[in-house]
Amino acid sequence: MVEVKLENIVKTFGDTVALKGINLDIKHGELFTLLGPSGCGKSTTLRIIAGLDFPDSGTIWFDDQDVTYMSSSERGAVLVFQNYALWPHMTVFDNVAYGLKIKKLPKDEIERKVKWALELVKLSGFEDRYPTQLSGGQQQRVAIARALVVEPKILLLDEPLSNLDAKLRLEMRSEIRRIQRELGITVLYVTHDQEEAMAISDRIAVMNVGTVEQVGTPKEIYESPKTEFVASFMGKTNVIPAKVIERNGDRVTVEFEGIRLDGLYYTEKSDKVVIVIRPERIKLKPVEKAVSFTGTVDLIEYYGFFVEVIGLFGETRIISRTISDKEVAHLRPLQEVTFYVDRDDIIVLPKQQL
Ligand code: ATP
Repeated sequence: MVEVKLENIVKTFGDTVALKGINLDIKHGELFTLLGPSGCGKSTTLRIIAGLDFPDSGTIWFDDQDVTYMSSSERGAVLVFQNYALWPHMTVFDNVAYGLKIKKLPKDEIERKVKWALELVKLSGFEDRYPTQLSGGQQQRVAIARALVVEPKILLLDEPLSNLDAKLRLEMRSEIRRIQRELGITVLYVTHDQEEAMAISDRIAVMNVGTVEQVGTPKEIYESPKTEFVASFMGKTNVIPAKVIERNGDRVTVEFEGIRLDGLYYTEKSDKVVIVIRPERIKLKPVEKAVSFTGTVDLIEYYGFFVEVIGLFGETRIISRTISDKEVAHLRPLQEVTFYVDRDDIIVLPKQQL
């Protein structure tokens, strides 16, 4: 396993600046995820770390070695592609053994290593099958076994679950985590699915148009987003445009739709802000240190293990989420409703220039 450092990586394709100076620090044995919308530069970053593409400028370090212009095998990185890229005319055994045969390892060593890798991905007994005789999830496991058998310093996974159905996706997600923990290997994982990123990662880098907006643990990214983009990308949330109308040290009063919320923490210069409130932090009963605002019920949506009450405040819709449907049983659309939020659960961020 290896520590990977990216210093100021720039990559352009013609007129498109795909990466605008990326800095990242991926630690030994960490499962690190690049998360962001389509086209933000995740795959380009991954390919550059894999040694399948090279940056225009900047440096990539594997521990204290500059690997920027080394090939994949020289640097010890293996990429598992989204479509697995298994050889259809080869058996599972031969697919997994391929990298070892190229290295001209002795036959008995190849057999031992392939056996180990197939056991690891729980595919012992599938050696003689061809890829077409496997399910999507099994093909994915073969691709991972083929990558791990050469004992890479870092395993790179590009949207590895996107071709699987929802149930299998959850299963493979846990499998990847298990294998990573068992081997203690450094894994760089790419996805555009925030829930997947939250569930699987030690740390996440949220990317947006060729830049890294924030790096942190899933909890940090979810609970303390540093930018409007990160806040709005991490799941269903309320991001409400507002204005700072009064400042008192590090506390401000903000206004939206004629509603004033006071005593909120904010130290940035811009008065054009958004307030970010996670739906589950909104209560329908008074709570301590809370601000409150009153509007009307627009919709009540029942999801089984939680219920969402969507309130209308002027033209602004705000979603609240509660796990107890008893709490909302008395509410009907168009009725008056008051939302309560602890001040510490409201994040004020500068409005992002688009
Ligand atoms: P997706 O989730 O859709 O795969 P991504 O975040 O991985 O997206 P990249 O594939 O890294 O994004 O692309 C980043 C930007 O660089 C995009 O604007 C893309 O169009 C552009 N780009 C990537 N590869 C090339 C290429 N070979 N030639 C031209 N432009 C490219």
